[in-house]
Amino acid sequence: MRRSVTRRSRREFIHQVGVAAITAPVAASLITSAHAQEDKRLGFALVGLGSLSTNQIAPALQKTKHCRLAGIVTGTPAKEQAWADKYNIPRKNIYNYENFDRVADNPDIDVVYVVLPNAMHGEYTIRAARAGKHVLCEKPMEVSVKKCEQMIEACKKANRKLAIGYRCQFVPHHVEAIRLAREKVFGDVKLIEASFGFRIGDPNQWRLKRALAGGGALMDVGIYALQGARYISGEEPVEVFASETKTDTVKFEEVDESILWSMRFPSGVMANCGTSYLVGGMNRLFAAAEKGWFQLDPAYSYSGIQGKTNRGLMEFPQVDHFATEMDDFALCIKNNKPTKVPGEEGLRDVKIMTAIYESIRKGRPVKLG
Ligand code: NAD
Repeated sequence: MRRSVTRRSRREFIHQVGVAAITAPVAASLITSAHAQEDKRLGFALVGLGSLSTNQIAPALQKTKHCRLAGIVTGTPAKEQAWADKYNIPRKNIYNYENFDRVADNPDIDVVYVVLPNAMHGEYTIRAARAGKHVLCEKPMEVSVKKCEQMIEACKKANRKLAIGYRCQFVPHHVEAIRLAREKVFGDVKLIEASFGFRIGDPNQWRLKRALAGGGALMDVGIYALQGARYISGEEPVEVFASETKTDTVKFEEVDESILWSMRFPSGVMANCGTSYLVGGMNRLFAAAEKGWFQLDPAYSYSGIQGKTNRGLMEFPQVDHFATEMDDFALCIKNNKPTKVPGEEGLRDVKIMTAIYESIRKGRPVKLG
């Protein structure tokens, strides 16, 4: 597959420059440079060097085939040298939040990966797009529908690609669960159960501040259950009905602690979903179909995903979720193909989460357009 693409584009390249008019050595060097371009690893710059960048994304970049860690953007000077030394990042590829826009002049950086608190995703995505860079933005896309729309608009205007960090969509077990649903291997899926929660620690972290997080457990990890229910059903919900419980009103003064919600899909499929910052152990995606069932449990952890159906275990390799996600985006950019996790996908989830919060406030089901 790759070989035929390479051959075809070489042929096209030779054709474009008019092979009859150039000498053999010149043609050879032009072909070599076209080939190098195709094989080039895209340079990623990470914005925000917190836990996810440090422990998952930077190590994952070392395992990718089409990407490399080319730059960093940090507000903490002490991290600059440590990262430069560890990952061999040149001084000219290190930015802070003030001078970040100068990345426009840096050809080493092809993609900006936004790994900041949720309410900062919009600003840095828009600045990156204006600087002419493609953007991979962590989930949730932003904290409001309006911000998501502005991000999509900015990337369209700059003719740059925008992807949201929905890593699970690249994990073999999830891909298989989607196949089982689409190909109706167990007949039509009728009911879905999806939940993700964990017990959050430090009461002073940004995840518990509304201004930076936009919401609590739902925005942070409930979004995985929401995504799962959407991609297993293959439909968009037409109604949500949610309720919330808050047992620690001090720690969770500004954001949601635990939410249970249901979603109704046009075909009549229903999903029962849950999320929590108070309790762990909720890490599941289950589908009941006409002639059987399938489930992932744990479903959303960084590793060790386990799949089962009523016929037995799902045997699929464990992959590095972030490396797979970044390589997929790099290939979409190189081959100018659409990503399966575009900004529009992030916007849909933010619209649904907004409706879930509305349902909690109003104490009744909320219809979605
Ligand atoms: P973190 O708190 O560990 O890191 C946040 C980074 O942002 C830090 O480097 C911090 O210095 C920087 N920052 C800049 N301005 C800040 C401010 N005003 N307040 C607080 N921090 C500020 O967070 P994280 O766990 O790395 O999460 C970052 C993003 O990644 C979030 O959007 C989160 O939802 C997402 N995330 C995704 C996954 C996944 O599996 N895809 C997992 C964890 C986190």
